[in-house]
Amino acid sequence: MKAVFVTEFGGIEKLRYEEIATPAAGEGQALVKIDYTGVNFIDIYFRTGLYPAPPPVVLGMEAAGVVEAVGPGVESVKPGDRVAYAMARGSYAEYAAVPAWQLVKVPAQVGLDLAAASMLQGMTAHYLTHSTYPLHPGEICLVHAAAGGAGQWTVAAAKIRGAQVIGTVSTAAKAETALAAGCDHVINYAETDFAAEVKRITEGRGVDVVYDSVGAATWEKSLDSLRPRGMMVTFGNASGPVPPFPPLTLSQKGSLFVTRPTLAHYTSKREELEWRASEVLNWVQGGLFSPQIFKVYPLAEAGAAHDALAARLTSGKLLLQP
Ligand code: NDP
Repeated sequence: MKAVFVTEFGGIEKLRYEEIATPAAGEGQALVKIDYTGVNFIDIYFRTGLYPAPPPVVLGMEAAGVVEAVGPGVESVKPGDRVAYAMARGSYAEYAAVPAWQLVKVPAQVGLDLAAASMLQGMTAHYLTHSTYPLHPGEICLVHAAAGGAGQWTVAAAKIRGAQVIGTVSTAAKAETALAAGCDHVINYAETDFAAEVKRITEGRGVDVVYDSVGAATWEKSLDSLRPRGMMVTFGNASGPVPPFPPLTLSQKGSLFVTRPTLAHYTSKREELEWRASEVLNWVQGGLFSPQIFKVYPLAEAGAAHDALAARLTSGKLLLQP
């Protein structure tokens, strides 16, 4: 089968699109023939080595497709089932052998492209807004990169929780996209001091929670945007990882809470994974939110997708098609 992998870490020139052996479904695994694979920023981190993994690394953490075969002990899915998953590496390929417990069945009414666009970023938005800091009606949150993949989903999930949402974006076009995703207020943080603007919108109070996928560039001002005892959820590094900081800062800025979560720890049990995935797919099926598919690239052009994502040229979801 064809796959995209790296044997050395670095830029997109290190990506290899080549023939490798098709995996077999081992004990507890299902072999999935992939229709669409999701592109996520985390794929760039595995390509560059920011998130270390022993090479060769077949990239990709998310896909939707059809079960081709199952290994010993698998009863939850069978050949022919339409399935989707996230957080199992190796989806930049025609086939992937995936632990069967990580697969969810895709409702017949949901296209496999939308399913692939929902699993990683949708379940992330779900855990951020339902578990890490469970939003309540009347609360107000700040979502950075609100037109991005995780961003649009987080805005939508926060609105479903009944909260008010302030989104940040870097261009006027992305501001339109963020408003369409459900933001109540949008700030262009390339032009405006977003912490000052948040304070103005909240009449000096600050937000209850910041969902920050941007990292280094927004860290300081995100803390300044919080109400006393608010929660800083730093869940990504699009601009680079947050540097070390003295805990005393949290006291000085209002007895703040900080957490650095990852989806893996919020979907580590089947029950929790099923809860998040079914709610997210129900939102899509019921029309509460439909992820914007920005562009579908052929698998061979994974490098172009990475470049566009890293250069801030995209909004919504990028998919690859084997
Ligand atoms: P996005 O679609 O959000 O793309 C990244 C966006 O970040 C850009 O479009 C851009 O929006 C903004 N950005 C700000 N500064 C930079 C910069 N210097 N370089 C590039 N982009 C920048 O990507 P994803 O939704 O795939 O992921 C966003 C982040 O969230 C990643 O760090 C990812 O790892 C993380 N993430 C973490 C998860 C977790 O569980 N911890 C799960 C899912 C994602 P703008 O132009 O508007 O500023």
